Amino acid sequence: MKEIILIKDGEIVLKGLNRRQFEDVLKKNIRIALHELGKFEITSAQSTITVKPLSEDIDLDEACDRVGRVFGIVSYSRAALCEEKSMESVLATAPVYLEKQLRKAKTFKVEAKRSDKKFPLKSPEISRELGGVLLSKFPHLRVDVHHPDVTVTVEIRDYAAYVRADAIRGAGGIPVGTGGKAAVLISGGIDSPVAAYMMAKRGLKLTAIHFASPPYTSQRAEEKVVRLLQKVSRYATPMTMYTVPFTEIQEKLRDDCPEELFTIIMRRLMMQMAERIAKDNGCAALITGESLGQVASQTIGALGCTDEATDMVVFRPLIGMDKQEIIDISYKIDTYETSIEPYEDCCTVFTPKHPRTKPILKFVKAAQEQAGFEPLIEKALQNLKVTQIYPE
Ligand code: ATP
Ligand code: MG
Repeated sequence: MKEIILIKDGEIVLKGLNRRQFEDVLKKNIRIALHELGKFEITSAQSTITVKPLSEDIDLDEACDRVGRVFGIVSYSRAALCEEKSMESVLATAPVYLEKQLRKAKTFKVEAKRSDKKFPLKSPEISRELGGVLLSKFPHLRVDVHHPDVTVTVEIRDYAAYVRADAIRGAGGIPVGTGGKAAVLISGGIDSPVAAYMMAKRGLKLTAIHFASPPYTSQRAEEKVVRLLQKVSRYATPMTMYTVPFTEIQEKLRDDCPEELFTIIMRRLMMQMAERIAKDNGCAALITGESLGQVASQTIGALGCTDEATDMVVFRPLIGMDKQEIIDISYKIDTYETSIEPYEDCCTVFTPKHPRTKPILKFVKAAQEQAGFEPLIEKALQNLKVTQIYPE
């Protein structure tokens, strides 16, 4: 029996005129997600995208999992392609294809969607006929039109007939790449991978920036960030990661700035350097994993001082979330276990004992200017390490 995946796209429907372009990006992203699994034919018609595997040996379970992580999809389902577009073929296909689900269920209903108006039977007739056949083949079943355990759907389209069970909820959101580009500041922690995921969900194509301070931070800390991004890119599509050599800048910070301002000046320097990298990569915004009040550098005053360091829009999708809410998402996207591996981050080297929670911008800027970071910033930006990230 030939199986396919039927996909309903989501918010893109709302976008009226851009619909075509959104759908093209969505199809491209589906293609990228499936590309390793084999050859597929991906077509769209009548507000459904159809993914047809072109060889028998393709792992459709894995294909469905991957489709489930593509943003812009509201729901998807596996369906059997009927051999012919005839009622006989529908009646022959449904009981065989859906046998497992129907054996487990107590109640069911049949829903027919008939977009080919030339099909000889009307929708209620299709439902009635198939319902009757299923009741005779599975005598334990009852019909329940309000709360059925399984809804058997028959789709009669212009080009084929399909039979399927319930649709599965998709990842939602907007296709990655249709909302522009942004650079995410990524650490090895719990928060920033979640922030990256959330903004990719709103259609942004990501570039990742990571600050590393060897030998204070280890190679393994950087590898951990790569592994986190590989997880994130299962949703966010492949991306480029820039690793910024941050050691000399942090040493200067330690030597030439007041201790209580270490963190806030460091955050400003990160933003300034990230802005440069972002602009070079055509990104129009920065993304961080900051959450109001979580640590000393994330008070309203500290965030104000951080923000002032860049002209760019800064997205902080976690700003109003509790840690547990963030952790819940990190479980869902499977980054949690990696995030909690105990490697140091550059933020945790040279941390002041008493960081200012209400820094005064004037003093922060003066201290930063007096230390004079420009030559070191230029040097670091000329020595970026570039890593290509692919989903894993
Ligand atoms: P996370 O869990 O994302 O590490 P956090 O709660 O530890 O966040 P901070 O360490 O204060 O908070 O960092 C706040 C934000 O700054 C991070 O979410 C991330 O966006 C950015 N950031 C922190 N460290 C780095 C780093 N080494 N490289 C790039 N960005 C960083
Ligand atoms: Mg951190």
